[in-house]
Amino acid sequence: MNNQPPNAIITDHDKAMKIAISRVFPTFRHRFCLWHIMKKLPEKFGSHCQYGEIKSTIHRCVYDSFSQHEFDEHWCRMLDTYDLHKNAWLVSLYSDRHYWGPAYVRDTFWAGMSTTQRSEGMNAFFDDYVHSRTTLKQFVDQYDSALRRKVENEVIANFNSFNTDISCISRYPLEKQFQSAYTFAKFKEIQEELQGFLYLTTKEMGCEDGRYMFVVVDEVQIGNDLLKRVTFNVEVDQDPIDVKYSCKLFEFRDILCRHALHVLTQMGQHTVPSKYILDRWRKDIKRKHTFVKSRYDTTSIDDARRINKVKFGHMRRTFFQLLRLLITHRTTLQRLSIRTSVLFD
Ligand SMILES: [Zn+2]
Repeated sequence: MNNQPPNAIITDHDKAMKIAISRVFPTFRHRFCLWHIMKKLPEKFGSHCQYGEIKSTIHRCVYDSFSQHEFDEHWCRMLDTYDLHKNAWLVSLYSDRHYWGPAYVRDTFWAGMSTTQRSEGMNAFFDDYVHSRTTLKQFVDQYDSALRRKVENEVIANFNSFNTDISCISRYPLEKQFQSAYTFAKFKEIQEELQGFLYLTTKEMGCEDGRYMFVVVDEVQIGNDLLKRVTFNVEVDQDPIDVKYSCKLFEFRDILCRHALHVLTQMGQHTVPSKYILDRWRKDIKRKHTFVKSRYDTTSIDDARRINKVKFGHMRRTFFQLLRLLITHRTTLQRLSIRTSVLFD
């Protein structure tokens, strides 16, 4: 777009595409779709007598490794345990691990395309619209419907960001900073990080040349109930404030992680520098793509109805909040009753 190639691309695990992309777009960050790789497990190991164990070991290695070192260790142990050193598919996957391993691709922003969930973002986006037996003609129509839903959801999300308040869950001024700047959805993500403070233990390891080093132990949830203790490193330069952290959430999702936020609050730094409040997530910035006219513009009757419905819901909530407030303040209620009775007489 605008003669600018994108920074990153996701494709199927395919050798020919890997070579072509590296030649045509040498600066691209190229990633293979993890969901398609994991989908091949039954085909590759279905006939193996230990298929179930191999599958769950690979899943644990891929989804529950939080560093490249941990991933490598689990992978080698898996090859040893099931004697799979000569398996050509696994050999090629390991040599391409920088293209798909969650621990290896988290250093790049992927616009919300998950590295760890069982279904990648874009698959989930089309889930209700297309399936493996969808014909080309149906695909064109369904693609249209999927885009229409996306535009509608964005309009409603924009409206909510400006007209709905989510209360802060902490006393830290940095939460207020994000509350006033960020969109509804992104602020919720920041709040999830703040809720994660409960599971953190932070220890200062020392200071070298103005750079403070911390170790943060996090009780990370894997699966439904299991907790795993994972250690992350955070380094902070104090003047000016600059934070580096090993979980790479800022590179991957463009938000500060719980580990960095926890360290900052522990250092008495209760606001974050403006460079960590990104324009990308600000609610007061009109995204360029919204200036492009499309046939899904919100002038249609359906869209107008939906927006009115949201507005009505918002007004109703505000009205009930006002009523609750009045009920608890008797004198105000009495004064208001007198004034309204004058109005209606
Ligand atoms: Zn982190």
